[in-house]
Amino acid sequence: MTNRDDRKGKRHPHPALSQRERVNALTFAFALTLLTANIAHALEPIPDKLVVLTFDDSVKSHYTIARPILKKYGFGATFFITEGFTFTTNKTDYMTWDEIRELHDDGFEIGNHTRDHMSVTPGNYQLLEEQLGGIDAKCEEFGIPKPTSFAWPGNSLALEALPVLHEHGIRFARRGGAPEYPYDYGEGVAYQPTLDDPLLIPSAGDARPDWQLGNFIQAVNKAKDGRIAVLQFHGVPEGEHPWVHTPEELFEVYMRYLHLNGFTVIAIRDLSNYVDADVHPNDPWAVITYRQAEIAQANAPPPTETTSERTTDENDSDFRTCSPPERLTRIRHRLRSRTRRRCCY
Ligand SMILES: [Zn+2]
Repeated sequence: MTNRDDRKGKRHPHPALSQRERVNALTFAFALTLLTANIAHALEPIPDKLVVLTFDDSVKSHYTIARPILKKYGFGATFFITEGFTFTTNKTDYMTWDEIRELHDDGFEIGNHTRDHMSVTPGNYQLLEEQLGGIDAKCEEFGIPKPTSFAWPGNSLALEALPVLHEHGIRFARRGGAPEYPYDYGEGVAYQPTLDDPLLIPSAGDARPDWQLGNFIQAVNKAKDGRIAVLQFHGVPEGEHPWVHTPEELFEVYMRYLHLNGFTVIAIRDLSNYVDADVHPNDPWAVITYRQAEIAQANAPPPTETTSERTTDENDSDFRTCSPPERLTRIRHRLRSRTRRRCCY
């Protein structure tokens, strides 16, 4: 049997190889391919100073102000897009879809923030699929890939919606700093992979108009010891929602701080380099309850009497009324005995 090159009189590339040698060579090549694939999917260790930048609500200044600053420093970022508020008519305060597509063309991530900025609740989560689909359709129309990241609108949460997000193909979803901290001041906690569900990633900070560089540093300094600081911004400056405004000058100062201090700044989809999005805690709310108890303990006055150690096999009917330190002890026991599962809701 001859090939085209043989007919032209060219030498066969491996004329001396026996059948067995060819099989061995093929086997080696196949093994090498598998090895390369495995290396490509191996997770990197989470470095200190790993920051995720996210921008919500399709605000115009994301295109006019944030975009050039992020490009100057080579930072990654996710823009969570919604057509809620006055998006469709108010092109002074909100981006056009052409501008959103330009962000995608620049290499930034376009995420889904629901068509109508729908706060997801246990009463309406059945509508989420259609809300996600509204943004998907617009993305497709403008040549943007279907988003795989989501931000909970209004930082409202409903555990019932987790299967909806999962089945829709959402890999990572960001929430606010609540319920660990109240919404009002934009304070939050760092993301702890395996303890936090990838669909309930907390914000380490949610920038507010009265923030100064110190607030920002406090948020990003949580990015250490396997924890990742996920930051939430709205307009820089903001249009319709002044309570989440960030002045342009201050935003520039924040970004320069990250640049000068050697932070790695990525989009939320790029967490897949460090985190297996298919690993979910058995109880996605456990770590939140734990942190709430920890924060309550830190804020509690010194105990006036000794509280007894309890074990997890006790009946927890009085859990809500026990003291913060005791509650913390009980939750710690629960977390130690937690199990994890791969996929699915
Ligand atoms: Zn929003």
